[in-house]
Amino acid sequence: MSAWQQITDHIRDASGEPFQPESPRSLGGGCINTAVRLSDGNRHWFVKLNQASRLDMFEAEFLGLQELAAAEAIRVPLPLCTGTADGQSYIVMEFIPLGGSGSNASAGEQLAALHRHQAEAFGWQRDNTIGSTHQPNDWTADWVDFWRKHRLGFQLEEAARKGLGSHIQRLGENLLERFSVLMDHDPAPSLLHGDLWGGNLSHDDQGNPVIYDPATYYGDREAEIAMTELFGGFGAAFYDAYNSSWPLDSGYATRKTFYNLYHILNHANMFGGGYVGQAQRMMERLLADLG
Ligand code: ADP
Repeated sequence: MSAWQQITDHIRDASGEPFQPESPRSLGGGCINTAVRLSDGNRHWFVKLNQASRLDMFEAEFLGLQELAAAEAIRVPLPLCTGTADGQSYIVMEFIPLGGSGSNASAGEQLAALHRHQAEAFGWQRDNTIGSTHQPNDWTADWVDFWRKHRLGFQLEEAARKGLGSHIQRLGENLLERFSVLMDHDPAPSLLHGDLWGGNLSHDDQGNPVIYDPATYYGDREAEIAMTELFGGFGAAFYDAYNSSWPLDSGYATRKTFYNLYHILNHANMFGGGYVGQAQRMMERLLADLG
């Protein structure tokens, strides 16, 4: 049986509805996976495919989307099923027509509402991935400990494994020792999308904001807002609305660079090139700011 026949059968079983799709329509690649629309003209599904070994990544995405959806704060595609077929892993979720015109003010307000959903500790029920890199989420009571071990520390270990150079390691060790002074605020474990750059936010055809492709965990909401600023920003209306709903703590501007270092280090680990120098410069600047 072909992969598409197996996926179609799975969709039929999981949705409990008849489904006879037309040929799959390729939507071009996302950053990591191959994306396809499966439709019978009545029901439309968004399917992402990767190697069979990446099933775990799709299972984490499935649970992340479920958790974000349960908060009922901002629209996310509802996941239907995951599996493997013919040497490929897949996730199937609701297809949402994206690219509608909508206001980023609504996105800011709804993201603040999402962040009001909190856990008892930092982390999540399971590990997931950030880009294509493993992201550990062991529940941790203290945010500084969590960030030291499971975010900055983990990416530095990854950099060492990839042989990214001793200079990064030295800067990193220095930062790991000293960054706790930056954390002179008391963050709550907020439900985060976790990978919220411009490519993972859009609007549906009704103008409602939609976020997708998450790396969900419970953490300092500042880490999420910092990432929205990393690759271009979401515009003043977004930040005004977010801050009207729930103002950020003072000191965010300094912590922002620190939080974004995680993503730049991850890019250095995934792609190398200019991201390595960028990560080094960020670390040098942070260490200089720390005095
Ligand atoms: P990747 O995991 O490879 O980065 P994404 O999940 O970001 O892939 O999806 C790739 C693109 O497909 C997105 O940028 C978005 O435009 C579109 N997309 C994502 N989710 C959906 C969905 N549920 N319905 C319709 N289009 C989607």
